[in-house]
Amino acid sequence: MSEVTAHRASILHCLRDPSDDKDPLASGSVEYFEDGLLMVADGYVDRLGPAEALLKELPSNVKVVEYGDKLIIPGLIDCHVHYPQIDIIASYGERLLDWLEKYAYPAERKFADPEHAKEVAEFFVQELLRNGTTTACVFATVHPQSVDAIFEAASKYGMRLIAGKVLMDKNCPEDLRDTPETGYEQSRQLIEKWHGRDRLSYAVTPRFAITSSEEQLRQAGRLLKEYPDVYLHTHLAENEEEVAQVARQFPWSRSYLDVYEHFELVRERSVFAHCIHMHDDDRKLMARKGAAMTFCPSSNLFLGSGLFDLQMGRQCGVRVSIGSDVGGGTSLSILRTLGDAYKVLQLKGQSLTPFGALYLATLGSARGLHLEDRIGSFRKEKEADFVVLDASREAITNRRWRETEDIVPRVFALLMLSDDHTVTDTFLKGKRTEDFGWERDSRLVD
Ligand SMILES: [Zn+2]
Repeated sequence: MSEVTAHRASILHCLRDPSDDKDPLASGSVEYFEDGLLMVADGYVDRLGPAEALLKELPSNVKVVEYGDKLIIPGLIDCHVHYPQIDIIASYGERLLDWLEKYAYPAERKFADPEHAKEVAEFFVQELLRNGTTTACVFATVHPQSVDAIFEAASKYGMRLIAGKVLMDKNCPEDLRDTPETGYEQSRQLIEKWHGRDRLSYAVTPRFAITSSEEQLRQAGRLLKEYPDVYLHTHLAENEEEVAQVARQFPWSRSYLDVYEHFELVRERSVFAHCIHMHDDDRKLMARKGAAMTFCPSSNLFLGSGLFDLQMGRQCGVRVSIGSDVGGGTSLSILRTLGDAYKVLQLKGQSLTPFGALYLATLGSARGLHLEDRIGSFRKEKEADFVVLDASREAITNRRWRETEDIVPRVFALLMLSDDHTVTDTFLKGKRTEDFGWERDSRLVD
């Protein structure tokens, strides 16, 4: 007998990118049930529809969880975040390259201690869940034990998580370096140990072109050939100074992306964070290869890196996802990150539509990770990762929500105003994550 539960609430999800649709609800790119029922069987979406009709057909032994007029959406996806940087979030005064030296590297050095890695990983995963993030693509540090720690923490909750050991063998502190050989060997062992276990996937993770020798990038390409279904996760064209340094370091290259392309790192399941200062030819190359850009608006504003061009990315046909990029970003909340995304695009003279924002944080990011057949919407047989949002938890949000009954302005205001306070429940494969031994409210410090 399969285990079936039903969740009754307002339910909203995207079935495809609604950004160009005049009326996404009419065109069917977005589906909304004001009084909906989401049925989950053994962790997978079984049915979704209007509550009244579905309840009539429901066997009497199925438990129905009632959420009133709270809103259920698919679990949020964070496609670029550094868990070892959680303790240096909101560090003052630097741009990317100095920020790495002054804050990021000293924080990452502490992960030589496996106990420290374990403690931070557990804190980090619980914070993701509290923020409604159900899938994340995560940088660890150069230390293999930092990868063990984050995968162990995620697997406790059955969370979908992609992570990898950072590869860096030059232009960084001596005690944070690996070598092309040790980087290859440690990555290989971690892939063998973790990739495909539970919902965990490995990402070959060169920090960025600056901190790897050509031989190390070659070894990264070798890993991708030997393990074709792992991810590649790195940074690309975040900051102008960085782009100039890459051009000096690889004088033969046509562009920053060309460095990665040369070592065969641009492919399906390659996830490139930032992608700000780049040419359309490179955007088109990424599109052809099935690689993804991760838009990290909060970090790009905080580090003064630049303004992401979503319109160009979309026009060139690239998969675009969203990331918090903590510690460069200032919040693990993907909802708050969407607020920053909207503002960045306003400065570019572009727009992030209400449902386009929802798409970016759910199905769009799932597409970026080539996981759109598993997560990101409530299509039948997808993994039932979802979050419950409650607009009434904040006075202003509540007031704004009650001001209209139209879901379009409602959802836009909710996405712009929300953060972790709005998320009341986070479900992974149909299971309420707090039942796995953490408490949402006890995490708020008195
Ligand atoms: Zn980053």
